[in-house]
Amino acid sequence: NPIVSLEDVSLRYHSIGGETSAVSHLSLSVQAGEFISIVGPSGCGKSTILSMLAGQLAPSEGSIYIGGTIGYMLQKDYLLQWRSIRSNALLGLEIQKKLTPENVAYVDTLLAQYGLGDFKNSLPNQLSGGMRQRAALIRTLAVRPDILLLDEPFSALDYQTRLSVSDEIGTIIREEGKTAILVTHDISEAISLSDRVVVLSKRPARLKKIFPIQFSTE
Ligand code: ADP
Ligand code: ADP
Repeated sequence: NPIVSLEDVSLRYHSIGGETSAVSHLSLSVQAGEFISIVGPSGCGKSTILSMLAGQLAPSEGSIYIGGTIGYMLQKDYLLQWRSIRSNALLGLEIQKKLTPENVAYVDTLLAQYGLGDFKNSLPNQLSGGMRQRAALIRTLAVRPDILLLDEPFSALDYQTRLSVSDEIGTIIREEGKTAILVTHDISEAISLSDRVVVLSKRPARLKKIFPIQFSTE
C-alpha cells in the first residue's frame, strides 16, 4: 500500500498576469520506506508538488493521499542564529509542545550519532554549511515524521561539500527508515540517493519516465 499517492493531480496558479499551469495530470505513488527523487528543470513544478504534499496548496484537480505525518526540509536551513544547535534541534518539539524527556533524549542521540555531539552548544554560524544542514535534518527528524519532503536541500552548498553532505544525509534517512521524497535538478544526486527517480518534463509537469535504480551491495 502506498504511503503517498497523487492521482491525476493538476495545479494552476492564478495571478494578475493570468494563469500558470504548474502541474498537469500527474499520478505517482510512493511506498512506505521508499526513497524517491523528483528531477526536472527549474520551473517544471517540483516545489509545487512538495507544497501540495505538505498541505500548503490544494490541487486544482485530482486527489492526494498522505498516509502519515510530514517533515519538510528546504534549501535554506532556517536555523535560528541566536540559538545553539541543540536548542534549534529541539525547536519543532517545542512548537508542538512535545518536549518530553524521551523526545529530548532522542534528539541528543541523533546529534551524537550524526556527528554533532561536540557542537550541540555551538551557534549555527560556528558550523560548516553541511553541518548546519545535518542540524536542520535532525530538527525535522525530532518530531518523528513518517515522510520526509526534501526540496533541494543541498543546492546552497558548494560542489565538493554537496557530494559528501548528500551522502551523509541519505545515510541518515535510510538508517532512520523514513519514506523520503527528494526534489532536485541534479540527476546524478537523484540516482545516487534514491531507489527510484521520477523525471518531469518542462512545465506543465507530466510524468515522463520512472527509472528503477538497482543498487549494488558493497
Ligand atoms: P525554484 O525554481 O527554485 O523553485 P522559483 O524561482 O520557481 O524557485 O520560485 C521562487 C519563489 O517565487 C517561490 O516561492 C514561488 O512560489 C514564487 N514564484 C515563482 N514563480 C512565480 C510567479 N510566476 N508568480 C508568483 N510567484 C512565483
Ligand atoms: P520548480 O520547483 O520545478 O522550479 P515550481 O513548482 O517552483 O517549479 O514552479 C512551477 C511553475 O509555476 C513555474 O512556471 C513557476 O514560475 C510557477 N509558479 C510557482 N509558484 C508560483 C506562484 N506562487 N504564483 C504563480 N506562479 C507560480
